Amino acid sequence: MLNRFQHLIFIALTCMIFQGSFAQNNPKKAVFIILDGIPADVLERVNTPNLDRIAAEGGYSRGFTGGKKGGYSETPTISAVGYNSLLTGTWANKHNVWGNGIEEPSYKYWTIFRFLKEARPEAKTAIFSTWLDNRTKLIGEGLAETGYLKLDYHFDGFELDTLIYPHDEDKRYILNIDNLVSFEAAHYLKISGPDLSWVYLEYTDDIAHRFGDGPEMDRAVQIADEQVGRIWEAIDFRRKKLKEDWLIFITTDHGRTLEDGKDHGGQSDREREIWMVTNAGNLNSYFQKEEPAMVDIMPTIARFMNLDIPQEQGLELDGVPLIGPISLSQADLLETETEIILTWKPMETQGKVEIRMSGENKFKTTGQPDSYVLLGEAEVSSGEYRIQKNQVPGNWAKFVVKGKHNSLNLWKMND
Ligand SMILES: [Zn+2]
Repeated sequence: MLNRFQHLIFIALTCMIFQGSFAQNNPKKAVFIILDGIPADVLERVNTPNLDRIAAEGGYSRGFTGGKKGGYSETPTISAVGYNSLLTGTWANKHNVWGNGIEEPSYKYWTIFRFLKEARPEAKTAIFSTWLDNRTKLIGEGLAETGYLKLDYHFDGFELDTLIYPHDEDKRYILNIDNLVSFEAAHYLKISGPDLSWVYLEYTDDIAHRFGDGPEMDRAVQIADEQVGRIWEAIDFRRKKLKEDWLIFITTDHGRTLEDGKDHGGQSDREREIWMVTNAGNLNSYFQKEEPAMVDIMPTIARFMNLDIPQEQGLELDGVPLIGPISLSQADLLETETEIILTWKPMETQGKVEIRMSGENKFKTTGQPDSYVLLGEAEVSSGEYRIQKNQVPGNWAKFVVKGKHNSLNLWKMND
């Protein structure tokens, strides 16, 4: 017989072993897929059984990209710009990618890959992509500015191999590469199960640029759905066999022009409109009732994976998690002659928010934390906070509205 003390030790050890094996048996893994340039109305019209079955587990929502139209965060509805808004959870005024040339990206605002690697260096990452620049320029693999961030596996760059993939006008070579990339993503995810993966497929955008809205585009969307389906099969296999907890987000980087669906880049409603499909089980009312933004996906993945976000990085995020509780969303800054008015949509009925102000933007130039002063508190349910302009020392300032579950930040631009 065990004595009382031995018995307690035995129970404690049993609990520890159980907790340990519980944690190991349910690792959280995430994958996000960008299908290039598919308008929400096209996606909704075309038969996409694979996306539908994923959405049936979690949800589907229309959303937006492009930052605040006419505001300081307005962001072109261009491909690489959108990918980087997803990766960093910030708009272009911060990440500084304004076009597909990716001329001077700011690596001060970390990508989701860097957040993961800084928090958990042992975590495994992968990219499967029909465009090389996603890894080398946006994620910034191997660069001093990203702390020599390294992905554990990459499968990309085939568009540069013109011997095996000669560039034809019909862009069949992109279709072939997308297929290759999706098969490899499915295979690798199935056998290796990396913690965080990005799959990027391009063909839909090429077809839309050439043909615009119509049967060719509809067919390209159906092909993309099949490609997603094979990746989802691999994930589902691991969920069932290995009891892993997987999160998937599928989205697009921009919509297209209303006239014929051939172009994008501007700020029209159809170009700004995107959509999201996810299997996430605990989607919040912001996802379900509002229009989530491209920048919300990164904080969602971070929350799902329980990543620690360093405070100076967290204060800069323009997105909010789409799962679990949040305090506020859709923050905005209005100005009158005498006042600055911070507004937000309350996402909880009780509690307070803190209002902080900084007259500097050291973070943008150096990555170092800014010093904030606490201006005051407000009820989160009030949805606004007014500041007399004579309280703001300079012409430029940035504000943080900090609630219990999340914060948002706003810039007051020079007059
Ligand atoms: Zn695009």
